[in-house]
Amino acid sequence: MGRIEIESLTKRFDSGGDRIIAVNDLNLTVRDGEFLVLVGPSGCGKSTTLRLIAGLERVTEGTIRLDRTDVTDQKPKNRNMAMVFQNYALYPHMTARENMGFGLKMTTDMSNEEINERVEEVAAMMGIENLLGSKPGEMSGGQQQRVALGRAIVRDPEVFLMDEPLSNLDAKLRSEMRTELQNLQQDFDVTTIYVTHDQTEAMTMGDRIAILNDGQLQQVGTPLECYHEPANRFVASFIGSPSMNFLDVRLSGDIFEHEAFKYRLSSPFDDDEGDYVLGIRPEDIEVADGDEENAIEATVNVVEPLGDLSHVYVEIGNEQYTASIAGTPQYEPGDTIWVLFPEDQIHVFDTDDGRAVR
Ligand code: ATP
Repeated sequence: MGRIEIESLTKRFDSGGDRIIAVNDLNLTVRDGEFLVLVGPSGCGKSTTLRLIAGLERVTEGTIRLDRTDVTDQKPKNRNMAMVFQNYALYPHMTARENMGFGLKMTTDMSNEEINERVEEVAAMMGIENLLGSKPGEMSGGQQQRVALGRAIVRDPEVFLMDEPLSNLDAKLRSEMRTELQNLQQDFDVTTIYVTHDQTEAMTMGDRIAILNDGQLQQVGTPLECYHEPANRFVASFIGSPSMNFLDVRLSGDIFEHEAFKYRLSSPFDDDEGDYVLGIRPEDIEVADGDEENAIEATVNVVEPLGDLSHVYVEIGNEQYTASIAGTPQYEPGDTIWVLFPEDQIHVFDTDDGRAVR
């Protein structure tokens, strides 16, 4: 079992007279066997949250439970969690075999023979037997990270805690390792909390993702829930690439009025009249004929062909927006085109607090 319950977790740092709230009243449950990704921009409190769960930082307020046992004040070594770091943190003078067995040697009364057997068993499952005799300096980044993972697995923990474990690898290896890591996690069925600032990594790896900003949880859900039903404007802009477009509009009856166009809704919008922010993802924008209902006039600035699709940067009113259009449209800068925001794809946010209202 490896269910983690985080309740009202707060971490404050006193830094040169300033008080930084790195984690602010976080509530989160990670299910047994789940792969949960903690994602958010730099400084949002991801690493601190992970370090609090591991016991590497002292909690200011709140509770952390592992399988209903309160571990908030337990020493890291008593928590049965294994951490995997960005920089691998392998001992340079030890072989992979020694690195992988070191934790068992220090924390259990297993004999050297038993430790060796366990290391070999895990190495075989991971396909890294050939590395056992090598020292970190003789291995590539990807190999070192495999050994670091192996070292975590050998201990048979209830929870893996991973802090940007792939960020030192080049793009191709990173994407290979993503798949490998997911397969390993499924094979070993260990609850995993994975920290990254990379929304693509979050979207592709997480059973669920928890999105943090400024120490506060913004939303937790499956990647597709967060993509299709972002709870607020922050999540809407953080998840998805290129980012969602936002347009200031005013609701009057069943019409959204923008400075450059009017958008008529087919069914009445049941919130109050007034100012809203309309959101539309680049990939949801369609190219239309000028006489279609709700077609919006746009001026092409730049076309960026990517092969299967192109990013078309357009101006509507005086603002620039992005549309992802299939293929390579033959537009010239300055061309006028008509775009459509399909009604079932538009998002509407409160102007003041950014909360999604539709
Ligand atoms: P990154 O992706 O850049 O690592 P993060 O989301 O992991 O960022 P944290 O490292 O958890 O963010 O930091 C959250 C906030 O807490 C930041 O403002 C950071 O400066 C601050 N902080 C973290 N550790 C300490 C510390 N030991 N002392 C003081 N402030 C700290």
